[in-house]
Amino acid sequence: METILVLAHTEADGSLAKPAREALHVAATLSKALADSKIVVGLVGEGVQAAANSIAACPATKYFGVAGKDFSQSRYATDSAAAEAICKAAQATLVIAPATSRWNRALPGVAERVGGRADTHVTSVTVSDGKIAVNRWYYRQRMEATLTRAQRPWFMLVDPGSQPACQCGAGTAKIETVAVNLPDTCKRTTVVGIRAPAADQQTIRPDAKVLFVAGAGWTKKQPDGKTHTDEAGKIILEFLDLTKASLGSSKSLVDLRGEGQAVLPFMSHLNQVGQTGSTPRHPKGLSTCCHGEEPHAVGWRFISERRAVNLDPNCGWARGKADVLYVADAFEVMRKVNALLAEKK
Ligand SMILES: Cc1cc2nc3c(=O)[nH]c(=O)nc-3n(C[C@H](O)[C@H](O)[C@H](O)COP(=O)(O)OP(=O)(O)OC[C@H]3O[C@@H](n4cnc5c(N)ncnc54)[C@H](O)[C@@H]3O)c2cc1C
Repeated sequence: METILVLAHTEADGSLAKPAREALHVAATLSKALADSKIVVGLVGEGVQAAANSIAACPATKYFGVAGKDFSQSRYATDSAAAEAICKAAQATLVIAPATSRWNRALPGVAERVGGRADTHVTSVTVSDGKIAVNRWYYRQRMEATLTRAQRPWFMLVDPGSQPACQCGAGTAKIETVAVNLPDTCKRTTVVGIRAPAADQQTIRPDAKVLFVAGAGWTKKQPDGKTHTDEAGKIILEFLDLTKASLGSSKSLVDLRGEGQAVLPFMSHLNQVGQTGSTPRHPKGLSTCCHGEEPHAVGWRFISERRAVNLDPNCGWARGKADVLYVADAFEVMRKVNALLAEKK
């Protein structure tokens, strides 16, 4: 029998984020497809009762929890100790966890401690002839592989955004508290705080419906022979403000800062999509002033509906990878789009 442990950490407010519910959805689907299995839930955080209650109607037979101030923040030593203790208490054979930065850092080490194996960036889990298989992408999302493993426990870190979130309702969950003995060495790292941009300056929004990709063309000389970087910044920010879209960038555009050229000040390497950037998941994407292969072939591989605006009708990547290419001046197009959006508001 497989014991499927859904392992999640709580957020600062004690809630469960969407990626945790996506992991729960994977576990429920997997359990249905297996002849003999049960689901248990393990939670780590400062407090775990509210999170457990929020999913109390899920098909889990048992809840395990590690709670306390030491587990409030992401720290490898305490997170791995907590996860290891829960895996052992639950006698898990399959561990399904959201691939958050916190778990991506801690869980491969936990798999090693408990004699298991870990697969990160899992995008689906299937069962065929009773054999469990996971899917994941390699070579920066250019090749997809299906893997099976005999080794247990098998840790599967499910990429956020790749699954629907489970809709199970709330109730009252009974939690079995798991004791974790933290040696002093676990507390050598002290989290003193988090530096993050203010919410209204945050341009990376994983849950947004639209990804807006800006390329270096926004800062290049335009048909009048001049650059219009300030206006480009205003147009892009206005669009983001009106739509709450997420902002992606080509590498060339974010690299300009290092070359001392006029830049869009709200853009950083964190916005970069592509082979050496991220591969976000959004229902729709709009690429503007962008030519590169990597942003088009890799950066928006998981965008379902893709459109591009480029002055160059021969831009092979925009033509090859977008569903619709508008051969037009992005300044003009986006000014008009912003005006229409503002009218609608
Ligand atoms: C190993 C390696 C890894 C790389 N990884 C990445 C990566 O992860 N992500 C990435 O982005 N790049 C990556 N690159 C770089 C990539 O190959 C391209 O050089 C880069 O993406 C080009 O950026 P761009 O399209 O913004 O700029 P450009 O190539 O300069 O294209 C600008 C485009 O803007 C258009 N344009 C200009 N003005 C307008 C206007 N008014 N309206 C409409 N269109 C306009 C032009 O027609 C042109 O097509 C990588 C390169 C290498 C070698």
